[in-house]
Amino acid sequence: MTMVQLGPPKIRRKSRQVLVGGVPVGGDAPISVQSMTTALTSNVDETLQQIAELTAAGCQIVRVAVPSQDDADALPEIARRSKIPVIADIHFQPRYVFAAIDAGCAAVRVNPGNIRQFDDKVREIAQAASAAGVPIRIGVNAGSLDKRLLAKYGKATPEALVESALWECSLFEEHGFQDIKISVKHHDPVVMIAAYRKLAGRCDYPLHLGVTEAGPRMQGTVKSSVAFGVLLAAGIGDTIRVSLSAPPVEEVKVGSQILESLGLRPRQLEIVSCPSCGRAQVDVYKLAEQVTAAFEGFPVPLRVAVMGCVVNGPGEAREADLGVSSGNGKGQIFVRGEVIRTVPESKIVETLVEEALSRDWT
Ligand code: SF4
Repeated sequence: MTMVQLGPPKIRRKSRQVLVGGVPVGGDAPISVQSMTTALTSNVDETLQQIAELTAAGCQIVRVAVPSQDDADALPEIARRSKIPVIADIHFQPRYVFAAIDAGCAAVRVNPGNIRQFDDKVREIAQAASAAGVPIRIGVNAGSLDKRLLAKYGKATPEALVESALWECSLFEEHGFQDIKISVKHHDPVVMIAAYRKLAGRCDYPLHLGVTEAGPRMQGTVKSSVAFGVLLAAGIGDTIRVSLSAPPVEEVKVGSQILESLGLRPRQLEIVSCPSCGRAQVDVYKLAEQVTAAFEGFPVPLRVAVMGCVVNGPGEAREADLGVSSGNGKGQIFVRGEVIRTVPESKIVETLVEEALSRDWT
């Protein structure tokens, strides 16, 4: 019988480490969570406000788009005032790469398929990035694959994505520059997984995982969770970005929970709630949402059980730090396995919070 490995991967792919501002990526560094702002980068206040919200949600590295000179002009102030490292995302215009490096950005993302005359500029970019200690992300994307490779492979296959990335890396390597991380994103998790697996075996650069254009919140969460789960469980991946057609703070929450679910990051809040059934004596969906909202941002890790009836309720509630098992319009409140109070249904949430705040959980 084949044994399935549970828990965090025991063997992580060996990658070189790059420093994105103060955040190490690769090697034995913890896997970091990234996101991207959606405000116009030229709107400095709005961009910084979004970065602050992302930072509060647990984002460790943030990327901003730089499609125009106005955006490039905004970079120095954004890089200076952001509490987390800022990566400039550059398509089409090599000159913004230099602007981003001069602005103090922590890294620059370039897409080899989208940068005009990029190959001619590699020497200069490598020199400028090297002098400033700024890593470059080679960010290959299925939707903008190099035309040469599109012609060769017919579509964005895993081989085409990997070849594009490694070709671009080789141009930098010719100039002695290896301060690189790579992404090879595709909207299809199956293709994406195959591409990263191939890439992982062909270089030691740190890998930025992403399922691109993953879709709205639900679909994007599932696609990213599946793809990242497969790769991270095999020790592949050094930093992640969940792409959702939803506010970027949601991306950070999902990314953090993926890492927590794989045991790659200590859990913060875990809600153990039942799916409800015909035995439920309370509105479990509503109660679970209320409890989740009440405990969001709680400063220490907690497992809180929300159970709809007495069948599995007391058992699960006992396993948790805090829990409630409902029945007959009341909730039995458990703390570390002991029933400490029974309260009316309307008092369940506030009692759980009260109990959480009154104890030392360290
Ligand atoms: S705990 Fe009770 S209500 Fe919830 S799913 Fe189990 S049996 Fe149903």
